[in-house]
Amino acid sequence: MQLIFDGHNDVLSRLWCTGGDPVACFSGDGGQINARGAAKGGFGGGFFALYSPQSRTTYDFTGFKGGSMPLAAPLQQAPALQSVMAQVGIARRLHEAGQVTLCTTVPQIETAMGAGGIAALLHLEGAECIDPELLVLEALHALGLRSLGPVWSRSTIWGEGVPFGIDRDGDTGPGLTADGRRLVARCHALGMVVDTSHLTMKGFFDIAEMGLPLVATHSNAFDLCPTTRNLTVQQLRAIGETGGMVGLNYATVFLSPQGWASGRATLDDCLRQLDALLASAGEDCVGLGSDFDGAPMPDGLESCAGLPALVTAMERHGYGAALIDKLCRANWLAFLNRTLTM
Ligand code: ZN
Repeated sequence: MQLIFDGHNDVLSRLWCTGGDPVACFSGDGGQINARGAAKGGFGGGFFALYSPQSRTTYDFTGFKGGSMPLAAPLQQAPALQSVMAQVGIARRLHEAGQVTLCTTVPQIETAMGAGGIAALLHLEGAECIDPELLVLEALHALGLRSLGPVWSRSTIWGEGVPFGIDRDGDTGPGLTADGRRLVARCHALGMVVDTSHLTMKGFFDIAEMGLPLVATHSNAFDLCPTTRNLTVQQLRAIGETGGMVGLNYATVFLSPQGWASGRATLDDCLRQLDALLASAGEDCVGLGSDFDGAPMPDGLESCAGLPALVTAMERHGYGAALIDKLCRANWLAFLNRTLTM
């Protein structure tokens, strides 16, 4: 079975918002990523996001269908830090129980995946929990954090995210602040991935100007679905030119305008998006970035147990075995091999 290493999921914040015993919950049938579904679908791991929702009790991505939304309210550092630390704790519990393997290097990831496990690389989606002195960043790095997106779709001291909207691109607000540039530079020095998904277009090109490879862990092509969360041809080309990565986001609302309006999409929509990402970013710089447990999913890919259907769709679409392996696993691992230095 084709193994998948994926650019983005929200299982840790789902388990935190659900409450109770995360190990028991991960063993059950709930959510889009769980132990059984991963084994069935060949989900071998990926970036596991630490994400601070507005409130622990209002986690409901399935309600998001269509419509443009204002930017979410800013989040204070203390509650953000509380939720992030709790989610690191959940990741540690899953690791101790043998349900995932926390990894900080590519050899660790390959060993875990080769043994049939789930390799988890910790990612911070929105850096509200980090102080201006970047001390929390050092602590999170010591706990295994190896990837960071400065913003989610909010305004922060680092820069601004895009509000969720249709018929407009990601040029919705300012780029990185001076503090944001310091944060990105420190992440780069620590050998971490810097993720631009959710960031404004100005912020995206600010990071390019700083000389980093451009990465969008879970974003799609604007040409096929004109939302603020997707990337223009110019942005996708910049990802290819800088040796970065873009991960296909399965969220129905970012695949097509119909998906945005209805919350429904198909595997064909995923393939159309992959064609567009490949045409602009190039075949070495495209991977998967599911958004499992963070978004409504296409028919036939309702959870990670459905991943073989996506692989079959790639085969039927005419992708060869070598390209499929690059998209599913190898491109992310090659990129991480170039990036993770500590
Ligand atoms: Zn996201």
